[in-house]
Amino acid sequence: MSDTLTLGRIPLDDYAELLGAGEIEELRALASPLRGRSIQMVNSTAVGGGVAEILTRLVPLAEELDLNIKWEVMGGGEDFFEVTKAFHNALHGAPYHASQRDFDIFLAYNKMNREKLPLDAEFMVIHDPQPAALIEARRPGANHWVWRCHIDLSHPNRTVWDFLEQFVSKYDGAMFSSPEFSRQLPIPQYLFYPAIDPLSEKNWELDREFIAQVLARYGIDPQRTILTQISRFDRLKDPVGVIRAYRIVKRYFDCQLVLAGGSASDDPEGAVVLKEVLREADGDPDIKVLELPAWAPLEVNALQRASTIVLQKSLREGFGLTVSEALWKKKPVVASAVGGIPIQIIHKHTGLLAHSVEGTAYQIRFLLSHPEIATRLGEHGHEHVKENFLITQKLKRYLTLLLTLARA
Ligand code: UDP
Repeated sequence: MSDTLTLGRIPLDDYAELLGAGEIEELRALASPLRGRSIQMVNSTAVGGGVAEILTRLVPLAEELDLNIKWEVMGGGEDFFEVTKAFHNALHGAPYHASQRDFDIFLAYNKMNREKLPLDAEFMVIHDPQPAALIEARRPGANHWVWRCHIDLSHPNRTVWDFLEQFVSKYDGAMFSSPEFSRQLPIPQYLFYPAIDPLSEKNWELDREFIAQVLARYGIDPQRTILTQISRFDRLKDPVGVIRAYRIVKRYFDCQLVLAGGSASDDPEGAVVLKEVLREADGDPDIKVLELPAWAPLEVNALQRASTIVLQKSLREGFGLTVSEALWKKKPVVASAVGGIPIQIIHKHTGLLAHSVEGTAYQIRFLLSHPEIATRLGEHGHEHVKENFLITQKLKRYLTLLLTLARA
């Protein structure tokens, strides 16, 4: 029912070239008092979505620092993931009437996972609402538990949050991606930015030939403007809104739209949303709706690098790792001013923010008419990501938190 993930090695010294030897030394110094001590990450999917993306890289990097770290994926049936997806949308502010049955399903699967998973590491890091009730397995004084929340909790559905809060308040601390997501809680709260790995297959440099092959495979013309949004097919990513914005732009500029999305095992809504997208695309040959496998980092990398402009027109967003991924590749980005996006997109400095379909179309048109500004935004965006949203900084922050917990 559940999985322990085994990941490949990532040599830490490879990062020194990019970030400087000092950065790596600092990591080693922070990690040394934690050497050999056990850490366990728990989330609800091994692939698909930003959390799995981060853990895939963070866990092997921590192993390189001789930390005894494990990543467990909780198990659950379709009924569980339907309930937790509804909770996810409700916590992002969507209307929802939670029933006692929903809470019972949530509790039953958390209980099953408490019986199944070894939850005895010195440091337990539980990601997002799905496994939040694992905290009930905690033996008093035995170990440290923190809850890492990756979603925007600024306007949560009251009933769902009240239900969740009874578990969250039992942790030793909660970590949020933006100060705006913090809640009134009786435990310390920490600001933790998500991060990308510049040396992962998703973000490393690619040669032109490979990019050309990927474009050819999907029938995308490299000579024409390419607008791209890469996201799970999820209503909160507003793929239908992206198509509407593209249609406005298309009245003024020749362009193609790429909507690429894989699935995540903890997101049961993808197939329905994909149908809505295909209906809206209505057979337009310049709209490429690509169903990617859940794990296709090189294709995503190539599509981002080939794009003229990258879009992230989310209606709600925890952070939106895709934004940092595009900025790292020096792409001009037009994105919605929601959730964690404005932390990455400083309007008119590292990209352009929008608030509607019309606003998104307006900003795209502006960039297409001012390519020199588009280039500058991409360059500033790259620097902003380098300063703030790389995996080594995130690891440093984790190490500092664990040291603080260990001393508490
Ligand atoms: N992603 C992917 N393939 C897809 C769609 C998304 O690899 O078809 C990746 C994307 O590149 C990013 C992550 O999944 O690394 C999505 O993270 P984000 O924070 O943008 O959104 P989430 O899915 O977690 O809401």
